Amino acid sequence: MLLCLFAAAVSLWGEPTPAPRPTPNHNISYTSPILPDSIDLTSLIGDALQYVHSPIDEVWSATDADDVEEISTEEYYKIWTSERINPYGVKLDSLPDSLWIDCSHYCYPTDSRRVTSRFGIRGSRFHYGIDLGVHYGDTIRATFDGVVRMVSYDRRGYGRYVVVRHANGLETLSGHMSRTLVSENDTVRAGDAIGLGGNTGRSTGPHLHYEVRFLGNAFNPAKIIDFETAEVRVDDSSRYLLTISETYSHKPQLEELSRAAYHRVRSGDTLSHIARRYGTSVRRLCRLNNIRETSVIRIGQRIRYR
Ligand SMILES: [Zn+2]
Repeated sequence: MLLCLFAAAVSLWGEPTPAPRPTPNHNISYTSPILPDSIDLTSLIGDALQYVHSPIDEVWSATDADDVEEISTEEYYKIWTSERINPYGVKLDSLPDSLWIDCSHYCYPTDSRRVTSRFGIRGSRFHYGIDLGVHYGDTIRATFDGVVRMVSYDRRGYGRYVVVRHANGLETLSGHMSRTLVSENDTVRAGDAIGLGGNTGRSTGPHLHYEVRFLGNAFNPAKIIDFETAEVRVDDSSRYLLTISETYSHKPQLEELSRAAYHRVRSGDTLSHIARRYGTSVRRLCRLNNIRETSVIRIGQRIRYR
């Protein structure tokens, strides 16, 4: 009944339309290894791309010869596919220690600054983005200039989502949208509407799931964006310094999660049985599983013990 009312309301009022996007006006021609050859960047991105070669080259020349052969952003970013969110297969350990990300063309992704779920461990899984509470139909915008790599639908996960590869080397993913407003290979500028807020996929209320990735490796969007002020965290030259130690400070959490092991509860099991069996304590089991010592455990339930 509620659903019908909602559907009726939507059709009565029509589809929400995106708000016009703010600013940009640049017209410098440039080619970038970060974006596919087929995309004509003339008059698209401008000054921003001047940084694309330089900081990355600097990084490669600053690392050991071995590393240079192992990883080159240019090499990996030749991969241009809409098949997978992370097609690069680059491990966190092989990323450069640091590099500058040009953020001179930037737009906060939506109007809401209400973070409803943070980046990090969520139970036995890892939440690779930040959730922002939005209203159904709110405009979702491109964060930086770039090209749309994926427009897809994942019923059990991200819902309707868009992945944009930005000229500065980052990629962003926006999920759970009610509608997408771009197609794959579309060029977008910071601030362009890419979709509308929604509740598609695994979502229990309208929100934007927002990820920022470098060579496929997600990092906490709050490292680069201040979600209280909607500003990007940059130096005087509008650059963000991406470092493994700071930007990827969640690395130990990922490692801990990769070591996690689970016990499937059987008839007669209690927390103290399980603790004894795996040489741990009830207190630790409770912490790992976010339960209390008095919590009832069910047969078939997964209890993390490591
Ligand atoms: Zn999320």
